[in-house]
Amino acid sequence: MRYETLFDGRKIPVLGLGTWNIGGGMTADYSRDKECIESIRTAIRMGYTHIDTAQMYGGGHTEELVGAAIKPFRRGELFITTKVWSNNLRYRDVIEKLDESLRKLDTDYVDLYLIHWPNPSIPLKETFRAFNELVREGKVRYIGVSNFDIAQLKEAQRLSEVPIATNQVEYNLLNREPERTGMLEYCRNEGILITAYEPLGKGTILGNPSINKVAKKYGISPAQVAIYWLLQKPGVITIPKSVNETHLRENLSVLELTISQEDMKFLDSIAI
Ligand code: NAP
Repeated sequence: MRYETLFDGRKIPVLGLGTWNIGGGMTADYSRDKECIESIRTAIRMGYTHIDTAQMYGGGHTEELVGAAIKPFRRGELFITTKVWSNNLRYRDVIEKLDESLRKLDTDYVDLYLIHWPNPSIPLKETFRAFNELVREGKVRYIGVSNFDIAQLKEAQRLSEVPIATNQVEYNLLNREPERTGMLEYCRNEGILITAYEPLGKGTILGNPSINKVAKKYGISPAQVAIYWLLQKPGVITIPKSVNETHLRENLSVLELTISQEDMKFLDSIAI
């Protein structure tokens, strides 16, 4: 595994495991619990120690599956991220929802707690009163946000008692929004990690001819090209989701690949 360093020197794995659609999408799907738990365990055994989940995934069931999956492993060796949904950003709701997440994850703390989406109708000051308290109590190790624009991120930085660890945003070879908006540069300058979600565009970028051309040249898969491209960017980490053992292995082995500077420039140019 490769790591980025957080503000206090602790390490965060650059490649995490996404969990959207494991145990359901917007609502719970209990029909494949055994398989889901086993695939998360397979991933952890392979070396995925960073797991990204959220209060709303699977209508709350995904956190339960992650909680069940991590039981045989040493908690201290895992880095667990969860997120509070945007309609739960009032002080009391944040406190209650985090407790609910901890119960489901069967843990005393989460490594990283994110505001899933901004909600302009709830003052961020109120949300951060809760977030700061949770850090002081040790229930949350690091604070982050998701889907924030630069102005919202600056406000979060102003309100947070600890440095903001990450802004989790959609970013992949075909969606270059964080570059266009200046978010990537802003975060780099501020020492805030960009966590790229949908690194494979939910699978859609795998059919792109330019990405396939590079993949073919190196005898690797288009998914590997897409993940490699993200992880070559300083200050960028990513969290592809997979429940497929072959895909999990393939995605992890990106850390051992090398794609030439020239081909990286070509990839940079396929969508701007
Ligand atoms: P993604 O990771 O871009 O794509 C996942 C899809 O790609 C799955 O269908 C998966 O199927 C497939 N896949 C994975 N590895 C593959 C490979 N090597 N070859 C071919 N197909 C492969 O999309 P995502 O799950 O939406 O995003 C990743 C994670 O980001 C989520 O799971 C979630 O944790 C987080 N996220 C956060 C937000 C937010 O608002 N903060 C929004 C969206 C997502 P298999 O399982 O069959 O491999």
